[in-house]
Amino acid sequence: MTVLLKNVRPYGEDAVDLLVKDGVVAAIGADLSSTAQTIDATGLIALPGLVDLHTHLREPGREDTETVLTGSRAAALGGYTAVHAMANTDPVADTAGVVEQVWRLGQQAGLVDVVPVGAVTVGLGGTQLAELGAMADSAATVRVFSDDGKCVSDPALMRRALEYVKALDGVVAQHAEEPRLTVGAQMHEGDRSARLGLTGWPAVAEEAIIARDVLLAEHVGARLHVCHVSTAGSVELIRWAKSRGVQVTAEVTPHHLLLTDAQAEGYDATFKVNPPLRTAEDVAALRAGLADGTIDAVATDHAPHAGEDKECEWAAARPGMLGLEQALSVVVDTMVDTGLLTWREVADRMSVRPAEIGRLTHQGRPIAVGEPANLVLLDPTARAVVDPAALASKSRNSPYAGRELPARVVHTLLRGELSVLDGKVQK
Ligand SMILES: [Zn+2]
Repeated sequence: MTVLLKNVRPYGEDAVDLLVKDGVVAAIGADLSSTAQTIDATGLIALPGLVDLHTHLREPGREDTETVLTGSRAAALGGYTAVHAMANTDPVADTAGVVEQVWRLGQQAGLVDVVPVGAVTVGLGGTQLAELGAMADSAATVRVFSDDGKCVSDPALMRRALEYVKALDGVVAQHAEEPRLTVGAQMHEGDRSARLGLTGWPAVAEEAIIARDVLLAEHVGARLHVCHVSTAGSVELIRWAKSRGVQVTAEVTPHHLLLTDAQAEGYDATFKVNPPLRTAEDVAALRAGLADGTIDAVATDHAPHAGEDKECEWAAARPGMLGLEQALSVVVDTMVDTGLLTWREVADRMSVRPAEIGRLTHQGRPIAVGEPANLVLLDPTARAVVDPAALASKSRNSPYAGRELPARVVHTLLRGELSVLDGKVQK
């Protein structure tokens, strides 16, 4: 496919024409002409296609809530060209067979690169290492390993996982939650949880694991990635570890950049998530950490759930929120419109660094001649009220329902093919 994008603004800078041919950016210049399909992109900003380090696609096992295909549609509409699919499926993605199955389904959907994450331990059981080498050597070429949803809490096992994964040039992505400190936890532990009568999830349960793990990663000389950082103390610990030269990276979710534990008032379980929404002081620290690069990446933790698992009593509800389709808008709202990040820094935090962490060599590349044409084009002036009924995801548990957010993804290109054209998914 050949496409000519007229008057587009790479990284929000001056308008140029961009010719996409044979899957790469073939030319950049003023007044390019071509017989190809021409798209008037006046006013649109181009960024490298977004890369998510943390998506739950629910297939195999819970195809009633999401499939690789419906999750791929949601991702493309959100401006993503690659997503890492978390391992807590049923069966768990802890063998070469399951990761290859997910990888093939992603290829068939053909809308984004679906990159399977392998489980660290068999069945996420936390006692026996999974076949990490076989998953790395499989067609899915797994480089990110995570028991996400659960913490690898045994320190000796975590040390061994880091040693194995180091030899594979991979990374352990840790869901940092000391389980003995979060028994029965329902929301952030503080004055509000006490008043609402919900068991608290204390910040120290996250921070204690991060402190331990950065020391283990330093000892082993391995790469550690911290999933969905949620507290100010965690940001401080990661900043300290980086200053020591520890190979640690971290992500923050859009919902932790925007929402606070005040959302628990009213007991609407849409806002129940793990780790929980924290305080306004934590939100400010997360934004500052993302701005100064202490937190490397924005990752959605897109977690689709069936209505009956959310429209129920808070304590009975499953934790998790949708994220793929509104992630860029939330980042614009919290980080760009506030002056904390430039467009080039948005590209860094949502595409370049996540691709580096996941070792995806064809994603997160600069917008330049000869580079893969993985692109998102967005309208920064658009504003829209989020309507969950209109989402491409099979589930409806969006924490942004009824909220007005800025920016709209207009076109997405995967290797030069339009996966989204004028806000409509093409498959
Ligand atoms: Zn998690």
